[in-house]
Amino acid sequence: MRGPDEKPFDPAVSPLFVNAIHEELRQVADERRGDPRPCPNCGSDEHRKNGYQNEPKTVARLVTAEGLEDVGVDVQQYECLDCGRSFQGDLSALFYEGCAYAKPVVDLCVFHAADESPTACERTLRRQYGLQVHRDTVERYADRFDDVDGHAIDIADHRYSLSFLSFLFGDEDSDEPHFVIQRSTALW
Ligand SMILES: [Zn+2]
Repeated sequence: MRGPDEKPFDPAVSPLFVNAIHEELRQVADERRGDPRPCPNCGSDEHRKNGYQNEPKTVARLVTAEGLEDVGVDVQQYECLDCGRSFQGDLSALFYEGCAYAKPVVDLCVFHAADESPTACERTLRRQYGLQVHRDTVERYADRFDDVDGHAIDIADHRYSLSFLSFLFGDEDSDEPHFVIQRSTALW
């Protein structure tokens, strides 16, 4: 018996493709995050590393055949050597301030919310990407962000965000990217 929050795994495209998305997100979440930054209390640059936050910061919530799975990054903590304050490393590379999920997931919500109601968007994210984002959250993101990369790619007759797939599968930093989307006619 599924609980009220357990969304069924009913992918609109091949489950292999959704699993590949999940696998990439798990890898993103495997990295530790939190770049050094000045102390938010006194502005000092003198600090030392001070372990990791107890709770990982959520990157995405996956809808899998086994149920919901949160993937998150460990967040580096620092201690200011001048005032003693403990603070979180800089997460701005991966997160917008005050958002429950990572930037690519937020952008993905905004991308689909441009064409669909928040309720439809919640369903699209679940069925096309295997991601759970509540419709109220989708609506908040859509209200807050309006500047999003609208490039789309069709996969199995479904419209996908090119920038989201590029984030996952097109690794610009790697010498040998294992997957690069260059044209909108890529085949799956
Ligand atoms: Zn300080």
